[in-house]
Amino acid sequence: MTRVYLTGAGPGDIELLTLKAHRVIKQADVIIYDRLANPEILEMAKDGCEFVYVGKEDGRHTLPQDEINEVIYQNALKHKVVVRLKGGDPFVFGRGGEEGAYLQERGISFEIIPGITSAISVPAYAGIPVTHRGVAVSFRVVTGHESPNKEVSQIPWENFKTDDTIIFLMGLHNLSKIATKLIEIGKPKDYPCAVISKGSTKEQIVVTGTLEDIVKKAKGVPTPALIIVGKVVKLRDQLKWFEQQ
Ligand code: SAH
Repeated sequence: MTRVYLTGAGPGDIELLTLKAHRVIKQADVIIYDRLANPEILEMAKDGCEFVYVGKEDGRHTLPQDEINEVIYQNALKHKVVVRLKGGDPFVFGRGGEEGAYLQERGISFEIIPGITSAISVPAYAGIPVTHRGVAVSFRVVTGHESPNKEVSQIPWENFKTDDTIIFLMGLHNLSKIATKLIEIGKPKDYPCAVISKGSTKEQIVVTGTLEDIVKKAKGVPTPALIIVGKVVKLRDQLKWFEQQ
């Protein structure tokens, strides 16, 4: 029986792949993948495995999502083991839910293999814990794709006044608008934030600053990158570890 595995590839460091993901990647007849932080993962596939690239850059698909759904479905009709490989976790801004629903409606069985999301692990590789006793009691993972200037926003900006950590994915191109918006809702201009690019890979870049100066400091930093806003960013001074290796 055919099975589709909606699989998380983790943030980049190949060793952050789960054992389960590793197993299905080795068994796959076809791997349908996005732009991955670590393309070396594909080298784990068996001889004869087919690769289908359905590219996704900074949250924008080069193929529309409904076409990707159809590509997965068509491959499921042809192959036994279909791996749909996505960066991080398939259900964290990964549209894995839509792909699962499309398959379910067509009677194709699937499994979800969670991955280590960049939202938490990329800050960790920068020495920034998303929660910390006495500093942040919760964290939010928010899409940065939507412009904060949009008239009717789905994002509850007013709720971001607290010291909860905020992690914006897909937001680098909106960095300036996001920083301005957070100052507008009342955060101090010198509130800590960081931009982390290509986290957990050899090309990792971490830029720390404040809501006021982060745009200038992070100029030219490449994607994929996330933005983390919160007092926890300060802990990097003490907890920075990856660069030391
Ligand atoms: N499903 C993924 C997120 C998909 S949205 C996950 O769970 O990680 C894509 C966004 O994730 C990028 O725009 C970027 O904000 C973030 N991202 C993914 N990998 C990253 C990395 N190695 N370093 C920094 N940000 C990363």
